Amino acid sequence: MLPEAIWRLKCSDRDSVVMSHRTIHLFRKGLRLHDNPTLLGALACSAALFPVYVLDRTFLEGAMGLGPLRWRFILQSLEDLDARLRALGSRLYVLRGSTAAVLNDLVTRWGVTQISYDTEVEPYYACMEREIQALAQERGLQTYTHVSHTLYDVKRIVKANGGSPPLTYKKFLQVLSVLGEPEEPVRDVSAEDFLRCSPPAEPLHEQTYRVPSPADLGLELDSEVLWPGGETHALQRLHKHFQSQGWVANFSKARTVPNSLLPSTTGLSPYLSLGCLSVRTFYHRLRSVCAQSKNHSLPPVSLQGQVLWREFFYTVASATPNFTKMQGNPICLQIDWYHDPEALEKWRTAQTGFPWIDAIMTQLRQEGWIHHLARHAVACFLTRGDLWISWEEGMKVFEELLLDADYSVNAGNWMWLSASAFFHKYTRIFCPVRFGRRTDPQGQYVRKYLPVLKNFPSQYIYEPWKAPEDVQLSAGCIIGKDYPRPMVCHTEASQRNLGLMRQVRTEQQNTAELTRDVADDPMEAGLKRELQEEEELLEGAEQHGTSKRFSGDADHKSRPWTPETLQLSGEVM
Ligand code: FAD
Repeated sequence: MLPEAIWRLKCSDRDSVVMSHRTIHLFRKGLRLHDNPTLLGALACSAALFPVYVLDRTFLEGAMGLGPLRWRFILQSLEDLDARLRALGSRLYVLRGSTAAVLNDLVTRWGVTQISYDTEVEPYYACMEREIQALAQERGLQTYTHVSHTLYDVKRIVKANGGSPPLTYKKFLQVLSVLGEPEEPVRDVSAEDFLRCSPPAEPLHEQTYRVPSPADLGLELDSEVLWPGGETHALQRLHKHFQSQGWVANFSKARTVPNSLLPSTTGLSPYLSLGCLSVRTFYHRLRSVCAQSKNHSLPPVSLQGQVLWREFFYTVASATPNFTKMQGNPICLQIDWYHDPEALEKWRTAQTGFPWIDAIMTQLRQEGWIHHLARHAVACFLTRGDLWISWEEGMKVFEELLLDADYSVNAGNWMWLSASAFFHKYTRIFCPVRFGRRTDPQGQYVRKYLPVLKNFPSQYIYEPWKAPEDVQLSAGCIIGKDYPRPMVCHTEASQRNLGLMRQVRTEQQNTAELTRDVADDPMEAGLKRELQEEEELLEGAEQHGTSKRFSGDADHKSRPWTPETLQLSGEVM
């Protein structure tokens, strides 16, 4: 009998089924006890079960590019998991070393006969899974594995689409409509499940297997914890949102505010990305709210729509070679981006001289989370908007700094923002001055994250270089000395880049068509009017011949800001 069939039985009926395995349940993502089908299945066929997490530092920092904030988030999530396991009569065993070597050792030490783990799509996890399979074969062990990080087993979606991933969201939704709704979450793991199979605690358990602190790992972190890790916080956050059913039902992404001082969206992404929150639990809660509400919003802008974007990128990533790279990635435009480490460093360290961009990059560095449209702003600025630097560079910075950094979603969105795939209205370029000002004219967000500018009058907060000298003096901040001048002239850079992008897309039309959807870009609906103005402005410039000097010149670096370039750019900045 399969493990999932066993846990569906009543407890009294389970005794008649063989439950003799000594199992290691390997947590990787999926750090939770709700909707955890793999753990539930493993418990159902085990006489002893050891919940294990391997702190494989080389792997976590190498393959996954983990930065200090996400380290802390993971350690907190492990603490929480351990506490929740203890409440059910079990314990978490945290070990350090390479996963395969640690498992090999534990198999001998604990007389293990089975290893269970969630199946993941990332190539580095798939590689780890092959190592576990090889170990199992060598040592004569069973493996038990299940998909629980996505709504569906994405292989089913690919299969239903004829063996290749659907490359547009619209097509993706069509395939899902054939597959039907995702499975319901399974029941929570309970103390009863652990009754038979919690091995007696080892005398030195605390010293040997405890969750290390950030200091134990040599991580220096003195920033405030705004996003505490763990299932407990994930469920609290979820429940809090669902108390406002109207907000949930009417959620429309484009209407949320990128520069509000508290998140204007759910803020669940760090918890979803580490599996502290089950995406199926979230999805089915959303579904039931929508079922009770006559006029709820719809995908792609609704909350269900957001979760489906996640599923979309997971699906495409699972079946696209080199998904996180440009080279060898069949759906990605091949672009001759500039190699400009100095400009990249200014963007990374919030020194671009554009307060809106620098405030976002500061929030990212300090807190590990920024709003989706804020991600749009800085990603567009780095790539096709202003600096013409590869999306791969930006993706790596996000990977290090984001609490929710996610292999599939991060790369998918970076390709989108750089118009390398999925997004095609490339003439829409965000202005690093006007974008932030629309939703926060007083610049409260900029003042919070860039205190050096906090005394500027609102009129100048997004473009302090325009403030007369006496205003700069009384604000206590001289531009060029206390805060940098803009590193580029936005109008010039964006016009030049538009010409380059136009050329790339003409030359690589076939690739561009692969992920093209006739439907309008949903995320930008709320910004459409202003974006159209910008689009017109850029296209106007092209019609008037000013783009000629920019097109096709791949060696043309972004020109630094000077008073002369500012005059050229007119009022746009
Ligand atoms: P909500 O709006 O409340 O949405 C709920 C959930 O839906 C999110 O938690 C997330 O799991 C999913 N979701 C929302 N938007 C998207 C989207 N565009 N694509 C895929 N899934 C989505 N999100 C990540 O989780 N990890 C990343 O590494 C990541 N990198 C990004 C990089 C760039 C350049 C951009 C533009 C976006 C990126 N996103 C990433 C997507 C999105 O910005 C975040 O998921 C969202 O802002 C998280 O906040 P939230 O939980 O409040 O989202």
